[in-house]
Amino acid sequence: MRYVVVGSGPAGISAAEEIRKIDSVGPITMITADPHPAYSPVMLTYWMSSRYPKERLFFREMGPWAKDHRVDLRCGRQAKAVDVHRQVVTLSPGEEIAYDRLLIAAGAVPLIPPISGIRAKGVCTFRTFADAEEILTSRRDLEHLCIMGGGFIGIKLACHLRERGLTVLVFEKEPRLASRIFDQRASDIVQEQLRRHGLSVETGAGIAEISNRDGWVSGVRLEDGRVFPTQILVVAVGVRPNTSFIEAPIAANGGGIPVDERMETSVPHVYAAGDVATTWDSLTSSPFSNAVWPAATRQGKVAGANMAGGRRRYVHNFSLNAMNLYGLQVTTAGHSLEQEGDDIRVFQEEKGNEYRKIVLKSGALIGFILIGDTSRAGLFLSRMKRGDIIGNPAELFTRISHAPSGLLPYMGFRHGSLWPRCKDSVCP
Ligand SMILES: Cc1cc2nc3c(=O)[nH]c(=O)nc-3n(C[C@H](O)[C@H](O)[C@H](O)COP(=O)(O)OP(=O)(O)OC[C@H]3O[C@@H](n4cnc5c(N)ncnc54)[C@H](O)[C@@H]3O)c2cc1C
Repeated sequence: MRYVVVGSGPAGISAAEEIRKIDSVGPITMITADPHPAYSPVMLTYWMSSRYPKERLFFREMGPWAKDHRVDLRCGRQAKAVDVHRQVVTLSPGEEIAYDRLLIAAGAVPLIPPISGIRAKGVCTFRTFADAEEILTSRRDLEHLCIMGGGFIGIKLACHLRERGLTVLVFEKEPRLASRIFDQRASDIVQEQLRRHGLSVETGAGIAEISNRDGWVSGVRLEDGRVFPTQILVVAVGVRPNTSFIEAPIAANGGGIPVDERMETSVPHVYAAGDVATTWDSLTSSPFSNAVWPAATRQGKVAGANMAGGRRRYVHNFSLNAMNLYGLQVTTAGHSLEQEGDDIRVFQEEKGNEYRKIVLKSGALIGFILIGDTSRAGLFLSRMKRGDIIGNPAELFTRISHAPSGLLPYMGFRHGSLWPRCKDSVCP
């Protein structure tokens, strides 16, 4: 059995590890476009703060890892096409790798909105290690910059660049921050917390035009006419699945790659996992791209096991985000923005900077927002997974004394100081 894995992020790495647990002999080839395999985009923002060593970005030491797992690692190489009839992946004209089982774990790419001036130099995206380096090194005189997008990543990046001593201004087009996970109250609390720590955050502030001086970005004009100067503009308005090298029938029209609960696509022997895959929300059964680290890891494990002949199912798939904003713990999960209705009950509680909200559908917990006290996050999640009927919603608000501090910002996955220090940051 010849295995080919495209991508060395959490989905690709955990798939390869799972394959090796079952099949100790089948050759595994891992193709990765990045010259730095196995680094965590999650920790890139921390590194930007300058308080976090570069070597902590790498979650596997690739030299020993590839040797131990007998993986033929091809770094800095891009998969250009997949021929599902001949079962080959093309790297360049004439260079093909044949597979019996293929995993596509190519992640996502940043969205670039079609705004006038967006192609100016100094307008950066933020996804890869190279993106992070570009932001930090492209201007030696960097003192202030703007971020387009007040979502999860824009907010995290803003905090860490501020820690670095930069002046940061965030523009969010929607009336609230992270509008897919925060309601207005949650957004207000977070916005206030960011302001208290020296960040300027504007909501309802769409950027209409980007100006430049001699080709380098010099400022932004908002839809309401206000103009702000900037030395760099970081675009953080979301991502789309990275399927540019994939054709129908695996994926079509630039959407994600639809998979079943075994992480197999509609094409036999081809699997997909992580940000590139379209799964389904286990609470609503609707198609869903769960573009977070723990989902990528779990999906990779399921795909890897099944590629090697196992029988694993991917379950409990719903949105889950956790962050720590200058000591303010925030956790959101599931469908926390549903409005009170026939079948939907919403309960909330507020005290100063603390906010707790739960949403029940037909008596079962389907979503929550916890800000400040997140000690019950783990318990809420297990009740959501089990689909328990909540007889007495007030019971969910009871505080836990001496509780663990809820979910960690990286949602329980081993990160940062908990990782072994990885010595080699480049491809072996
Ligand atoms: C700045 C930032 C902060 C984040 N913060 C959090 C967080 O706090 N918590 C959280 O849970 N999630 C966070 N995420 C999301 C998380 O990082 C992703 O969900 C996760 O990395 C997805 O894993 P993946 O393996 O699917 O893809 P990636 O980690 O994106 O890996 C994709 C891999 O595919 C390779 N590749 C791409 N195209 C090709 C090609 N054509 N040929 C060969 N190789 C290719 C790439 O080089 C890379 O190795 C963050 C993401 C970013 C960018």
